[in-house]
Amino acid sequence: MEGKKIGNKTVSVPSILGLGKEGLDAWLAERGEKAFRAKQILEWLFVKRVESFAEMLNLSVALRAELEACFCINPLEIVEVNGAKDATRKFLFRLQDGRLVESVFIKASQGSQGQQSDRQTLCVSSQVGCAYDCKFCASGLAGFTRNLSTAEIVAQLLSVEAESGEKVNNVVFMGMGEPLANYTNLAASIKILNAHWGVGIGGRSITVSTSGLAPQIKKLADDTEAQIRLAISLHGASDEVRSRIMPVNDKYNLDRLFEALHYWRERRKQRLTFEYILIEGMNDSLDQARLLGKRAKSVGALVNLIPYNTVEGLPWKRPSEEQQEAFLRAVKSSDVAATLRREKGGDINAACGQLRLRREEELEISGEG
Ligand code: SF4
Repeated sequence: MEGKKIGNKTVSVPSILGLGKEGLDAWLAERGEKAFRAKQILEWLFVKRVESFAEMLNLSVALRAELEACFCINPLEIVEVNGAKDATRKFLFRLQDGRLVESVFIKASQGSQGQQSDRQTLCVSSQVGCAYDCKFCASGLAGFTRNLSTAEIVAQLLSVEAESGEKVNNVVFMGMGEPLANYTNLAASIKILNAHWGVGIGGRSITVSTSGLAPQIKKLADDTEAQIRLAISLHGASDEVRSRIMPVNDKYNLDRLFEALHYWRERRKQRLTFEYILIEGMNDSLDQARLLGKRAKSVGALVNLIPYNTVEGLPWKRPSEEQQEAFLRAVKSSDVAATLRREKGGDINAACGQLRLRREEELEISGEG
């Protein structure tokens, strides 16, 4: 919430970006404003991308003043941008309450296998911190603080586009946080990102990545109109191995998870993806690879193997290249599509949360924030 001075009081106001069309329709109707005003305001926000209500020149002065009193537009402040303009760039944002989150922008020329791609991908955060404590992940180290609002999710894209001058055409919910644990705001932000009156990104270009919250996977399959994609952070093909890496498996074990994935498959056209971080001596045996192949085959999933990237404070290592290749071959023996990421560094999955943690340490040391 942004603080606004009214008289000698500071009043918190929400961002208008999270209202969506229905919310805006209702807000205008309450004030006796004509319905077409919603279309005008949405166009100022998502097409013309204005940064103040004063710029909304086809609205009456009174309506602009009312909007100004009730809302802010973008609730994020860019604190730091890391990375060269033509490469992967990490954006660190400060929220209104001083908390920090990050987004990662991956430019078109960098396909995941080094090939040419026209995808301009933004990896967005959905929470501050995360409660799920996956053992390979830096975001879980600091624990969970709070959910991001719908506006804070949508604003990540608007801020990155404004700062970079680039157009995002692919959004992945793979940044900090478990998106399905912030279900209501996730669903509302997908609607705004996808809508023709909003950002206008196609459903197939929006991916939700989850650690496997089975009930919410089913709910998302029922609720979401857009043909979005679903990626599962699997990282273990048996309960015993997966539970060591992902405590969420104790709550929703592989039977429950796969029951939800079958449910998803029956209702959705888009292919599932399994993300599998290869960690030496932990989940990289050929038995795990064969089991992973069978599980992927059962739900028609694509397998994306990601060699582990060292996270400061965590003890694990990536397997040798020979072991990675052998693992890939064993997965493929079940006749499933599988890829192995070969690039070094810049791995947004394994590295999520790192920039925020480092910056928070610096702020503490310098006494900022
Ligand atoms: S991988 Fe995702 S769900 Fe797991 S701790 Fe990290 S942010 Fe949370």
